Amino acid sequence: MDYNGFFADKVEDLKKEGRYRTFATLERIVGRFPTALYHAPDGLSREVTIWCSNDYLGMGQNPVVLDAMKAAIDRSGAGAGGTRNISGTTRYHVELEDGIADLHNKEGALVFSSGYVANEGALSTLARLLPNCIIFSDELNHASMIHGMINSRAEKRVYRHNDVAHLEELLKAADPDVPKIVAFESVYSMEGDISPMAETIALAEKYGALTYLDEVHGVGLYGARGAGVAEERDLMDRVDIIEGTFGKAFGLMGGYIAGKAAMIDAVRSYASGFIFTTSLPPALLAGARASIEYLKVSDIERQRQRRNVKQLKERLEAADMPYMQGESHIVPLIVGEATCCKMVTDVLMDEHDIYVQPINYPTVPKGTERLRLTATAAHSLEQVDRMADVLERLWHENHVFQYAAA
Ligand SMILES: *Cc1c(COP(=O)(O)O)cnc(C)c1O
Repeated sequence: MDYNGFFADKVEDLKKEGRYRTFATLERIVGRFPTALYHAPDGLSREVTIWCSNDYLGMGQNPVVLDAMKAAIDRSGAGAGGTRNISGTTRYHVELEDGIADLHNKEGALVFSSGYVANEGALSTLARLLPNCIIFSDELNHASMIHGMINSRAEKRVYRHNDVAHLEELLKAADPDVPKIVAFESVYSMEGDISPMAETIALAEKYGALTYLDEVHGVGLYGARGAGVAEERDLMDRVDIIEGTFGKAFGLMGGYIAGKAAMIDAVRSYASGFIFTTSLPPALLAGARASIEYLKVSDIERQRQRRNVKQLKERLEAADMPYMQGESHIVPLIVGEATCCKMVTDVLMDEHDIYVQPINYPTVPKGTERLRLTATAAHSLEQVDRMADVLERLWHENHVFQYAAA
């Protein structure tokens, strides 16, 4: 078999569908975010404004975080030196996990290499250990949760997105005596909406199910101390497992779960993706801790981000643009076709020095291709207005969004 030709054809298929992924090479510059250097394919570089970053609060360049990371390198060096079990648990791991447990008001927390690994490891382990467990999963849950559920080999029942009536129908139909997990997110990052959390939790309680909540796009941003939407809605104590990341509002990378001590200990003891991998380096953990502790008390970043999000939404609303109106900070703008979506983002980059990555299938369903706009705390109001001006002109004058307009 011509293996190489086979794989080249697979990639060619993606190109024909307009959803071949090209990465934009960026060089972030401390103190200048959301401005960055873009290294274009022609070898030249120029400054662009980033409009699709998850560094929502600019914590990736916050001096408090950078100082903590530098101090940890100077004190403890580069790597952790092993897996968590074999010499790789450092003071930094323990202090960070204590800080996360405190953030979510839980008995314990456990750090993973990423939010993806945390979801995969925790869901696969919990659902596998529980005999005959059934998982009830929102249809738009993140790929990492889906893979955790698949790897658990537990039975899965998918409910329509944010549809609590459908969730109840499925819960009611299940054997009342088997263990159950309801798995859902707070902020759905591609839709920009927020789940009906109180109703979902109430149903889980009524039918005796554990709740597993992905707060990846909520932590740092919502609640008085940045613990997420569950904190903001005063529901945190009724969620069994909260999963989060350092990779978005906290500005670094790495993931975690927080919950009751026995559940955390079970995942620590059984989850392959936690056990058989080198633990995160001290500098990263020190930076994550500094970021979390900082955002427990500082609200300026959250206020600035909210101001910018509000301004962007108001401008798009006034210009009659088809953005998805959710309660969250994420502003998806529907284009509706992959090639057109790519073309719009090319025009933004090439003619306006604005970087937005097109979001295509399989990240979102076909026919709903979109721009996913994120106004961060680091944007100025002038940058928000400029973005709105450019989008409005492309939309109404140049008819770049031809498919969406049709
Ligand atoms: C990004 C994301 C993850 C994965 O987190 P990482 O730390 O980036 O691996 C999990 N869940 C959701 C909803 C996400 O958007």
